[in-house]
Amino acid sequence: MSNIVFISELPLNEQMQWLSKLNSTLKIDSVKFPDELSDSEALEIDIAIVANPNVATLKRYPNLVWIQSLWAGVEGLVASNLPKHIKLVRLIDPLLAKTMAESVVAWTLFLQREMATYAKQQANNDWNQLPTISSSELRVSILGAGKLGLSALTYLRKFDYQLSCWTRSPKNINHVKNYVGEEGLSNMLENTDILISLLPLTPQTHHILNKKSLKKLPKGAQVINFSRGAIIDTVSLIDLLNSNHLSHAVLDVFDLEPLPADSPLWQHENITILPHISAPTNLHTAAGIVVSNIERYRENNELPEITNLKIGY
Ligand code: NAP
Repeated sequence: MSNIVFISELPLNEQMQWLSKLNSTLKIDSVKFPDELSDSEALEIDIAIVANPNVATLKRYPNLVWIQSLWAGVEGLVASNLPKHIKLVRLIDPLLAKTMAESVVAWTLFLQREMATYAKQQANNDWNQLPTISSSELRVSILGAGKLGLSALTYLRKFDYQLSCWTRSPKNINHVKNYVGEEGLSNMLENTDILISLLPLTPQTHHILNKKSLKKLPKGAQVINFSRGAIIDTVSLIDLLNSNHLSHAVLDVFDLEPLPADSPLWQHENITILPHISAPTNLHTAAGIVVSNIERYRENNELPEITNLKIGY
């Protein structure tokens, strides 16, 4: 039997749940907390399972081959300059992609059907019927069409929206117009009513939605950010909402989380705040995926899909 180390700064009860679930499913390996491993056992460790780890503690395992993250987004680990020989594996879970697609559909409909405005009207006893925009008239665009973006596009297609996506490499997706490059981004933004970010945060995507790019959206456009806070420059977002160039933003992710109590985003009447819930990891499916990744590696040395640390995702 070999050991796998579990490194996390989650609350202890959550760490215990993960450990118990993983150990009840794994056939050969045993998952242990760092303090359960002697220094000589630490030298034998080739796999670490991590969730919000303190990266400095990885030094104790010089023979690590790969790290399995329990999260789908690994921006923090990529930015932490992992030692070059360590491969990073993020969680790729079809259930998480489905959950994200449901969130995208739910909040796209929220914006399309003016739910925020009707809630405000109710608070003022205001009976006011707003014009309804049909799905086929609405241009919905996604930044990114990876595991989550593709899943969202598949669900959105059922609603007859005019769909587009922006990616790094060209794509051929049924009923979805694909844009690439800087010019592609400009063209897509100019033709978007609802813009959804499902881009990973990398040096190239940091503040990709800034004053200049957000201004390219038509007047009245709406924005959803479900990927990482720093994709959007929030100062510019607030300016463009205040000047009515943009009409509403739904934000699930922020530069700093939890969102500080004094953030101006909380009180903005045209911003909907969500506490990073658009696609949480499911312990049961995630543990199953992690276990099959480990077993495949033990059986034939086959590494799961790894994150490209050079491009950042
Ligand atoms: P993914 O499979 O790696 O897909 C990333 C997509 O972004 C790809 O389509 C990629 O283009 C595109 N992209 C990356 N850099 C680009 C650039 N510079 N220009 C244009 N397109 C670019 O990632 P995913 O699994 O879909 O996840 C996306 C992000 O969602 C994660 O990184 C994480 O931040 C976030 N997330 C949020 C939650 C939540 O609850 N809020 C949960 C999970 C994940 P190519 O296809 O050409 O490579």
